Amino acid sequence: MTVSVPTSVAEAVSLLAAAPDSLVLAGGTDLMVEVNAGHRSLDRVIAVDRIEELRDWSISADRRSLTIGSGVPYSLVMDGPIAELVPALAQASRTVGSPQIRHVGTIGGNLGTCSPAGDTLPVLAALDAQIHLRSVSGGRTVSFSHFMTGVKRNSRQPDELITGVTLPVLPGWQGYSKVGVRNAMVIATASSCLAVDESTRSVRVALGSVGPVIIRCTDAEDWVVGQIDWERRAVDDGVVAEFGQRCGVAARPIDDHRSTAAYRRRAIEVLSARQLRRAFPNG
Ligand SMILES: Cc1cc2nc3c(=O)[nH]c(=O)nc-3n(C[C@H](O)[C@H](O)[C@H](O)COP(=O)(O)OP(=O)(O)OC[C@H]3O[C@@H](n4cnc5c(N)ncnc54)[C@H](O)[C@@H]3O)c2cc1C
Repeated sequence: MTVSVPTSVAEAVSLLAAAPDSLVLAGGTDLMVEVNAGHRSLDRVIAVDRIEELRDWSISADRRSLTIGSGVPYSLVMDGPIAELVPALAQASRTVGSPQIRHVGTIGGNLGTCSPAGDTLPVLAALDAQIHLRSVSGGRTVSFSHFMTGVKRNSRQPDELITGVTLPVLPGWQGYSKVGVRNAMVIATASSCLAVDESTRSVRVALGSVGPVIIRCTDAEDWVVGQIDWERRAVDDGVVAEFGQRCGVAARPIDDHRSTAAYRRRAIEVLSARQLRRAFPNG
């Protein structure tokens, strides 16, 4: 087994270019589970947790967007300035695993694994996050919708490092909710992120764990904007219920060891309706 411990992105991508079959190791909270289960072997590892530039974050000069390094752990996102700028991402981060997992687990690792149950992914989808990738040939940026291509599949090339994500800082309510088989240390059986952009008077909803990829509810999004009283921040109860149903229709859940398709669809109806009511509390 060869383990390389680069201290810069340039060094990491050179190592990847020389051996694209290497495993990138960040916090190891997904990767080591797979290794222990015998699904991956640790022949060649590039450990990226000493790369300071991946553990950094910044806000743009106009304060309209935020770039978070792929090596930023959940513990940094949960509270403090990032939580004030993207509260839904902070909420999602607080639901991940245990304090130990949140201390070492990273946003880049959630993207690298790309499980439909990954807690940050509905937030990144709802906010139309841009994912930054780097190789020795240069950098490229893809929208989240083009990044996640299937269950645990993404468009990252073997010689590319995920370096970070850029998210808009939106004026308006946003939140993330998750249902699982217990209250803590649980993988989502259904999850939803709703984000309001008051500057464009739009509503974005993305669902997790109810399809092979994160699902945007574009029909519900387009329909609901015309039903909202934006001045009063109000929606009728009937609109809230129909919004939930429309989100449920968008879901493509399956029966599996964690839940049934019917329960998942119902969970989505309830989560999305509750989120819309929280966003527009006046009835
Ligand atoms: C007990 C336990 C509880 C958990 N609970 C949750 C939960 O509630 N919600 C949830 O979403 N997840 C959960 N997870 C899964 C895991 O913690 C998260 O997916 C986490 O974000 C993975 O980050 P990591 O840094 O540990 O990634 P790693 O395990 O190091 O890597 C994961 C994958 O991403 C790739 N990768 C990592 N960084 C990069 C990079 N910079 N460039 C390219 N590829 C990269 C790796 O090669 C690997 O394929 C849990 C895991 C455990 C063990």
